[in-house]
Amino acid sequence: MSSQPDRHNGPAFLEKAPNTVAVIGAGMVGLSTAWFLQEAGVHVTVYERSRVGAGASWGNAGWLTPGLAAPLPEPAVLRYGLRAVLSARSPVYLPLRADRSLLRFLVSFVAHSTARQWRRAMAAYVPLNERSLEAFDVLAAGGVSATTTEAGTFLACYARERDRRGLLAELAQIRATGQDVRFHPVPGLRARVLEPVLTERVGAAIQIYGQRYLNPPRFVRSLAEAVRARGGRIVEGGDVTGLRPGPGGVGVVCRSGQEERHDAVVVATGALFGELATRLGVRQPVQAGRGYSFSVPAERMPGGPLYFPTQRVACTPLDDRLRVAGMMEFRRPADPLDPRRISAIVDAVRPFLRGVDLDDRRDEWVGSRPCTPDGLPLAGVTAAPRVFAAGGHGMWGVALGPVTGQLMAQTVLKGEAPPELAPFDPLR
Ligand SMILES: Cc1cc2nc3c(=O)[nH]c(=O)nc-3n(C[C@H](O)[C@H](O)[C@H](O)COP(=O)(O)OP(=O)(O)OC[C@H]3O[C@@H](n4cnc5c(N)ncnc54)[C@H](O)[C@@H]3O)c2cc1C
Repeated sequence: MSSQPDRHNGPAFLEKAPNTVAVIGAGMVGLSTAWFLQEAGVHVTVYERSRVGAGASWGNAGWLTPGLAAPLPEPAVLRYGLRAVLSARSPVYLPLRADRSLLRFLVSFVAHSTARQWRRAMAAYVPLNERSLEAFDVLAAGGVSATTTEAGTFLACYARERDRRGLLAELAQIRATGQDVRFHPVPGLRARVLEPVLTERVGAAIQIYGQRYLNPPRFVRSLAEAVRARGGRIVEGGDVTGLRPGPGGVGVVCRSGQEERHDAVVVATGALFGELATRLGVRQPVQAGRGYSFSVPAERMPGGPLYFPTQRVACTPLDDRLRVAGMMEFRRPADPLDPRRISAIVDAVRPFLRGVDLDDRRDEWVGSRPCTPDGLPLAGVTAAPRVFAAGGHGMWGVALGPVTGQLMAQTVLKGEAPPELAPFDPLR
């Protein structure tokens, strides 16, 4: 046997697969992991510091778009950098005075924003993207009642034809990396016929096919119900402050002082990952990329999501209201909602939408995308025995939550990650 410390805590499980597993965090990723562990007969306890879906999994845009799920650091994102600091109306916001951890994140993020790094990261996304919708079908077949919806139309909308060149090039790159994505440039007139909610200000669009969406609050609630219905325990108000790996299990310590032992633990705490990560050997920082959303009434609901890439705003029909979401604000997750960001989103989309009352807003929300500087999730084993990490999905934790949960369940049972998760090694 090697005398080197073992990065992979797998051998412990080859003798005895875990019977009881704690998942920390009841968002899309944690709940999906819990559900797929239950598929394998594992008893799960989900600890959630607040309530089910309290994090980013609640107010997001709900897009299940494997055709668009790509790593965030890319050369075009850098163009926002200067504007972000100079203009409060920019869709990306950076505080003028960044603290040390934000600076560290930004330096590394910029270093990863090259075309070569993006291609490499994209190649890692493809196997996950390809299985992402199928994983939702497995949840549906297994009794998760909230459904996903095929997007009748999915349009990325622009004021001018030349504005869409960037996304067309990116989609072609995504396809060149092996991702099956069908898309078509369409003139503004055609876009307005397809979606009468669009105004004459939409001068060009790209239609993307084969994508889906969901109602995030409903879905996350129904996933939690399914976990409970299968005998899982969800401890709301269970704020985990420490993990104590030891022989034969891991103690999960809550703020109340209570400690309970489990055979293994999966940390799926979204943008707050850093708080528990220090003793797990994970060096990648997870930075909150805060986004905002709200819902408004529409006289005529669009037949599918609308995307305004220049403004970085996403609109999704959720029952009788349109959810409008956007912004990338690098601030602390607990900072209060900044109403100026909501106004910036409203002003950005107002010229493009008709019959939508952007002033009758409900459910104004801010939440934190868990962003890593290389744009890759963290999913796999950590340096602490029997402790696993699942998160860091940035812009795409809803679409990729279930497939991550599926692969994490395999990882926990075997004690080592399957090949699809290799690029997401939390110890990279
Ligand atoms: C505006 C916006 C739009 C978005 N649109 C999309 C989209 O269209 N499609 C898509 O795929 N993704 C989208 N995303 C990203 C997506 O929302 C996230 O990637 C995803 O929700 C992350 O899921 P998660 O389970 O990792 O984290 P979260 O949902 O944040 O869940 C983590 C949970 O852990 C809990 N927690 C944290 N610390 C502790 C602790 N110590 N003890 C116990 N519990 C703890 C938190 O309370 C939280 O409930 C969007 C995000 C935003 C902000």
